[in-house]
Amino acid sequence: MKNQVLKLSNSFDEDSPLIHCVFCGSEENPEFSDYCEHVTFIYLVEEMVFEHIAPSFEPIVQKLQRELDETDQESDDTMEQKLLSLPGSSSSFVIEVGASGMACGPTSFTVLYGFDGDISTEAAPQK
Ligand SMILES: [Zn+2]
Repeated sequence: MKNQVLKLSNSFDEDSPLIHCVFCGSEENPEFSDYCEHVTFIYLVEEMVFEHIAPSFEPIVQKLQRELDETDQESDDTMEQKLLSLPGSSSSFVIEVGASGMACGPTSFTVLYGFDGDISTEAAPQK
């Protein structure tokens, strides 16, 4: 099963709405890099950089990066596609926020927010 992907779009003219975590209700604030523990990653598509990676998600990013490094240059696999096609679980999903508008000509940016409700900052007790 692939991750569920929710797409949002807004324009630069509006104040961009903050994403709230569906698990704990926290506001995810990219301006202050302030994210709750359920955020697995924040990826800036046009800049091709991760804004934030949860420690538990780090190995996955490294694996994807290795896969990308190994694919030949003709392949148009991107980190964005890889993130969107990651196998999902019932507690994980991705929100894709796109914004477009006119700055110096038409511009747009896209941010991927990865969430997982099973992630906890404390080690889960073994049962
Ligand atoms: Zn949360």
